[in-house]
Amino acid sequence: MRRKLAAGNWKMNGTSDALAELDAMAQASGGAEVLICPPATLIARAADRVRGAIAIGGQDCHAKASGAHTGDLSATMLKDAGASHVILGHSERRSDHDEHDEDVRAKTQAAWDAGLVAIVCVGETLTEREAQNTLDIIGGQLAGSVPDSATGHNLVVAYEPVWAIGTGKVPDTEQIGDVHDFIRARLERRFGAGVGRSVRILYGGSVKASNAAEIFDVSNVDGALVGGASLRASDFVPIIDALN
Ligand code: 13P
Repeated sequence: MRRKLAAGNWKMNGTSDALAELDAMAQASGGAEVLICPPATLIARAADRVRGAIAIGGQDCHAKASGAHTGDLSATMLKDAGASHVILGHSERRSDHDEHDEDVRAKTQAAWDAGLVAIVCVGETLTEREAQNTLDIIGGQLAGSVPDSATGHNLVVAYEPVWAIGTGKVPDTEQIGDVHDFIRARLERRFGAGVGRSVRILYGGSVKASNAAEIFDVSNVDGALVGGASLRASDFVPIIDALN
């Protein structure tokens, strides 16, 4: 059985005041695993505050463990600060920082080398969906972004259609199911049934309390990667509850 995961990506939001939101999230965790990925400046304080009641993660890491890379953070540093997970290949990283599958793959390997769980993001643009290229795009991103030594413990895949992120638009449940089933099949084909069935697949893109239960009912949806609705406990706790 795959444990459900409610993951929050705070993106470039949150200063010290935001840490108080973690208290109610930590109490809500129930059976589902809860993860918050705050901006890097808050990771250490977030981890100290929640004391393991929920997991804390990073939003990116460098592919190298150390060196002359001004402004960057290594997976080892995230781990040292108290992170257990890191989001990699988010579409905002892919577009804002020109990250490609091979970069994401190298970062994922670095995360694994440091002992972090990698949440590898894939997703099509609206143009790609309209051209009926969704599954080709997702298949290519998965093949290119995930290294060979994936396991059910070190890898989580997040399906985030680019056109659904921060837009309030959500694919219908059939569209979500088609992509999640496809990702599951690809994972099983590449890594074998045991690993392929144990990797969790999250849906992300305009998840909120009002649509979470319906999305969580879709086959092969093992939780959500939530942006805007993870910033406040009053929005995120109902999403956690919908998974429990
Ligand atoms: P929103 O939930 O704000 O659409 O963001 C989704 C996302 O990008 C999570 O990584």
